[in-house]
Amino acid sequence: MGRYCDCCGTERPYENFGGRGQRARICRECRKLPKAERQRILATGEIYGFLDQKNISQKNIDRLKDLASIDNEAFQALRGLILEIAMLAPRKRRRWKLLSANQKDLLQRAVDMGLIEDDCEADELEDPEVYDFTQMPDWNESDFDEMYGSTTDPENTNSESSEIDIPF
Ligand SMILES: [Zn+2]
Repeated sequence: MGRYCDCCGTERPYENFGGRGQRARICRECRKLPKAERQRILATGEIYGFLDQKNISQKNIDRLKDLASIDNEAFQALRGLILEIAMLAPRKRRRWKLLSANQKDLLQRAVDMGLIEDDCEADELEDPEVYDFTQMPDWNESDFDEMYGSTTDPENTNSESSEIDIPF
């Protein structure tokens, strides 16, 4: 039993932590890391956390923009991607579904980056409500008439007679 380090996410014995402030949250091993590296690891956890929130706020978006100052290519790739997602689909609910309909390229990059790994989220993409309209056959009017009856049916030309008569 111990405490989870905010930086490396590892459970460490209590004696690896100090009493208050950052010492209480970050283990002894991580506190030995160069400051820039520790900041990068903490910021990585922080921005991954944004994706778990119900909504990514404007404040979070500002924070994502501020983190452009961290000098690390992999971090910047992740940060840029999360920022794009935050701007287009800040809400967690149906986020991937929304992107699968409108931003397939961005969704693919999120998949490649491993941002969509939770089973529920992956299931969301299989939702039958998500319909790829580009895969629909081309409809023309005669198909429509065949299915629903012609809208230009001569017996139905009097629009008044086809209106529903409400008895009050
Ligand atoms: Zn640690």
